[in-house]
Amino acid sequence: MTGAAELLLSRIRDVPDYPQPGVVFKDITPLLADPAAFTALTDELAELCVRHGATKIVGLEARGFILAAPVAIRAGLGFIPVRKAGKLPGATLKQAYDLEYGSAEIEVHAEDLAAGDRVMVIDDVLATGGTAEASLHLVRRAGAEVAGVAVLMELGFLGGRARLEPALKGAPLDAV
Ligand code: AMP
Repeated sequence: MTGAAELLLSRIRDVPDYPQPGVVFKDITPLLADPAAFTALTDELAELCVRHGATKIVGLEARGFILAAPVAIRAGLGFIPVRKAGKLPGATLKQAYDLEYGSAEIEVHAEDLAAGDRVMVIDDVLATGGTAEASLHLVRRAGAEVAGVAVLMELGFLGGRARLEPALKGAPLDAV
């Protein structure tokens, strides 16, 4: 592990049994409150976006927004929000996906992505991979290409990487 990765992981707080018993919540607020750590994370993610030839940055609601917005500025690329259903005012593309109990839906403004775009999807935590997988379907349905997915951390025991693999179609998945 690099010094930067060690710093970043040391600023993530484990909160047991939140938001429900049995879940260990990865709280990134200590990292956001530390300018050296937040800058290091922004630099690392922006470098990945450039390396993978991204031309647009998608952030996944809600913590993905906090990470992706400064990355987009640092990389000199546009920021596109992918939101939970019902939050975007314009014409959207919607994608439903399964949760452990029930289902959810995410949306993107249809005009924000188009053929010729290469999109990097950014979020804080990859858990089951369902949200990221749905976002990749949205990107492709909009006609854009997937440059990659980048997260701060991956909860390996939940199998998100395996779930995401088919939707990645060879694009990289990076955890910082
Ligand atoms: P998933 O679709 O299961 O990969 O869940 C990913 C989304 O849920 C991300 O946007 C995360 O912010 C959030 N998430 C899921 N599990 C956790 C966790 N243990 N700690 C913090 N965030 C989580």
